[in-house]
Amino acid sequence: MAQPGQKVVLITGCSSGIGLRIAVLLAKDEQKRYYVIATMRDLKRKDKLVEAAGDAYGKTLTLLTLDVCNDESVKQCINSVKDRHIDVLVNNAGIGLVGPLEAISMDEMKKVFETNFFGVIRMIKEVMPDMKKRRGGHIIVISSVMGLQGVVFNDVYAASKFAMEGFCESLAVQLLKFNVILSMIEPGPVHTEFEMKMIQDVSQKDYPGADPDTVHYFKNVYLPSSVDIFEALGQTPDDIARCTKKVIE
Ligand code: NDP
Repeated sequence: MAQPGQKVVLITGCSSGIGLRIAVLLAKDEQKRYYVIATMRDLKRKDKLVEAAGDAYGKTLTLLTLDVCNDESVKQCINSVKDRHIDVLVNNAGIGLVGPLEAISMDEMKKVFETNFFGVIRMIKEVMPDMKKRRGGHIIVISSVMGLQGVVFNDVYAASKFAMEGFCESLAVQLLKFNVILSMIEPGPVHTEFEMKMIQDVSQKDYPGADPDTVHYFKNVYLPSSVDIFEALGQTPDDIARCTKKVIE
């Protein structure tokens, strides 16, 4: 349970990548300023997080199940937080979708919006009333540089993040009066195993029906330059976690 003076931070999508690193960094804060509720869809995937959290697990870090696409799961999760008091909500859960429109089904597109857009809104709607009532809170959204600039073959992913940017800019001004801050973090390419595997997978696909020039550009210019960016800048989930911690502080 959170100790007096500790900020309660709920993070979505902590089974891997950026969410896992944010959870661990905050839970291991030397001054123990945070009590982290690390959530994930399937607790069977908790081992990496538990191992990385070490001694913090069970003290400054606890786990809850949460699927941001499921109304009931979101309600249950928030209801199980003591008094529903959450000081900081970090909306990190998200999925990607790469490829030409010809290769992507409507169901896949809807899933991206359901997770990256409505998933965040579902969380904010559930957490916001208590923050407003208590006149304080911080909502953080992990968006993407693709929420500011579109990228070839990332049409739907970029659209979901653009939509989020518009939503948050509009809501943020309404929350200020209640002393609730809404912050966006827009990472560029982050070097994760998942990203590298995705690049390998898509570079091997044929994309029948798509414009061959665009496929050629994507595979031979865009993807190799992404790998160059990863290697040159080496931005890792830990960098995004440090940035998120600074935003919270
Ligand atoms: P990962 O795939 O490593 O992590 C995504 C996390 O979201 C996983 O824990 C996944 O859980 C979870 N998730 C997916 N769907 C749901 C859902 N319905 N409910 C709850 N959790 C869910 O990716 P990253 O760490 O890279 O991505 C984290 C965020 O950062 C995303 O919002 C992404 O858009 C953003 N981002 C990433 C960049 C990158 O280059 N990696 C760049 C810019 C932004 P599960 O294990 O259950 O699948």
